[in-house]
Amino acid sequence: MEQVTRNVFAETKIRGCNPGYVVTSDGVVVIDTPQLPTHAVKMREACEARGPIRYLINTEFHVDHIFGNFFFKSAEHVLAHQITADNFMTVYPEINPYNYAKEAMPTDDPDGIPIFPDENEYFADPNRPDVLITGDTTLTVGDHTFHVLHTPGHTLGELAVYVPEERVVFASDTVFNGCQTWLYVSDIPAWIASLERLMGLDVDYVIPGHGDVTTKAELNVQRAFLMEWETSIAVAISKGWTKEECIERNEFRSRFSVDIGQEYMLDHVIENNVRALYDRLSAPMKP
Ligand SMILES: [Zn+2]
Repeated sequence: MEQVTRNVFAETKIRGCNPGYVVTSDGVVVIDTPQLPTHAVKMREACEARGPIRYLINTEFHVDHIFGNFFFKSAEHVLAHQITADNFMTVYPEINPYNYAKEAMPTDDPDGIPIFPDENEYFADPNRPDVLITGDTTLTVGDHTFHVLHTPGHTLGELAVYVPEERVVFASDTVFNGCQTWLYVSDIPAWIASLERLMGLDVDYVIPGHGDVTTKAELNVQRAFLMEWETSIAVAISKGWTKEECIERNEFRSRFSVDIGQEYMLDHVIENNVRALYDRLSAPMKP
């Protein structure tokens, strides 16, 4: 774990999202859980050594943010947006989240295979959110304040967690720093508005959902990148390119690799990003 400030810790070097936690004078608040069991157990033990886990906050429903909840059953509450709860480990045509978590085991966490739950055991109690929100909320835990901000865009239930006492915001997948951005279920105009909202926070550190801990300057980079993606597909559609041509000629492939452990998924990410934008931008305009 990387110590970001006196009481804030984050893990940016493992496959999956960047989980983290904040140590308060009255227990610990965890933000997302490691997808890989060995890391999940290690992080939970590190938290418990510093106090009871008062809250686990899930910032979104993608599997790399929530699968590790299974190993955090000592958390008193799991807080998430209603949309995250509604989509928690739901199987979609593109992805079966349980299989996706399992597929990473031989390569990324062979030591964790003995504690990886079988499907029945897992779904009997995956440790779902029990505190559901539909907008912003504020938690006070010990000497720390947690402004939980609804920042839709990457997913519609996306949350960010701003901790003013530490001058830190956990931005989740509203920010991908130095790796490919996943746009599948995104709403780009909402995402840009959420980035602009985070720009207004008085923070020294931005902990992204993927990539290294960074600063507010990265928010502008992410915004520009989203606009570039949207522009490139809109221009291609105006030239009459098909979806397949957009995938084939896509220039974003060479920009970044996908985050740690998912480098092999580059074509999958590009294809799905193009499909999502193409379908939305080529839909008939509303009068
Ligand atoms: Zn995500």
